[in-house]
Amino acid sequence: MKAMPEYIARDEKTNNALLVDMRNLSIKYRIPVSRIEKFYDGLDHGVIMGTRCPVCGARFFPPQAWCSECGYSGDMEFYQLDTHGHLLTFTRIFAKPKSFSGFGDYTVGIAHLDRENLNVLAWIDASIDKPQVGMDVVIKVEKRKEDGATIYLISRP
Ligand SMILES: [Zn+2]
Repeated sequence: MKAMPEYIARDEKTNNALLVDMRNLSIKYRIPVSRIEKFYDGLDHGVIMGTRCPVCGARFFPPQAWCSECGYSGDMEFYQLDTHGHLLTFTRIFAKPKSFSGFGDYTVGIAHLDRENLNVLAWIDASIDKPQVGMDVVIKVEKRKEDGATIYLISRP
């Protein structure tokens, strides 16, 4: 039987032939954020903001450009979150998505912000080596050392 060319692979589940593109792509995502631009401006100044609906008062984090509670689609109010809370859950990531393949293993968690009644999904600061469900945490802003991105993390108060 004739060998298949190297640019033909097989799908692991179906065994169907797959053409392997020989080009390598480097992608930088561009995501439209014009209606939540204030959030990124805040992060740049170390401030974490959520949005509040001026009609029904619903609060959102990550910020939402419109209200999914009452349907209001005008300008949302931006406000600084009280980031004190406690850790609801966490998990260690060993099998990373492609875009994080150059990073070491990391831990993600969900923090419940007590005064906001909001949950925040974020990486857990590496200084917390043994996270515990229920522990006191805050959300803080920092520059990620691997790529210089401004990110928010679950951290010690
Ligand atoms: Zn609303």
